[in-house]
Amino acid sequence: MDAGEILPVMEMFYTIQGEGYHTGKPAFFIRIGGCDIGCHWCDVKESWNANLHPLTQVNDIVNEVSKSSANSVVITGGEPLIYNLEMLTKTLKSKNIATFIETSGAYPITGQWDWICLSPKKNSPPLEENYQYAGELKVIVHNKNDLAWAQQHAVKVKKETLLYLQPEWSKREEILPAIIDFVKSNPLWRISIQSHKYINIP
Ligand code: SF4
Repeated sequence: MDAGEILPVMEMFYTIQGEGYHTGKPAFFIRIGGCDIGCHWCDVKESWNANLHPLTQVNDIVNEVSKSSANSVVITGGEPLIYNLEMLTKTLKSKNIATFIETSGAYPITGQWDWICLSPKKNSPPLEENYQYAGELKVIVHNKNDLAWAQQHAVKVKKETLLYLQPEWSKREEILPAIIDFVKSNPLWRISIQSHKYINIP
């Protein structure tokens, strides 16, 4: 596993990216099991225990992607950077498949990425060296305090990094008005909503 030849895959599916910069684009999702961050609002807690998810050869993962029409993958989790993702991303890119990742940034970045979505988590903030690689900074907003917290991360990314605030799903009705007001007052930020959940796709 250290060489990244096998990974605990929780699920793989071809769908439409519902959130962030690539919203609306078809993408093959690879959800890798294992996360020790422990966000209380996490909507994929079943991903946390890596031992529950079958160790899968990188070649088998890439074969599944190749069977679809996808030209990009989103590697998500869990926290995918717990693992060495060099071999997976290298193999995908050798087949001209773009590589996107969703990560808390709490672990060193491995792999070759076309797009990094850095989504900081309070329990385990990003490593300082990871901010510079973010194509987008996506902060999940659970309460109003998270808006000020988001600004603390925004000053650490490059100036061209896109800034997104995304309501935490269970609080969306309650928190959305505050996010809208915030974005209107701070126009560098954009709103990301989990559009896949509104159209009932994974
Ligand atoms: Fe869940 Fe992601 Fe937080 Fe891990 S980092 S607990 S997978 S929301």
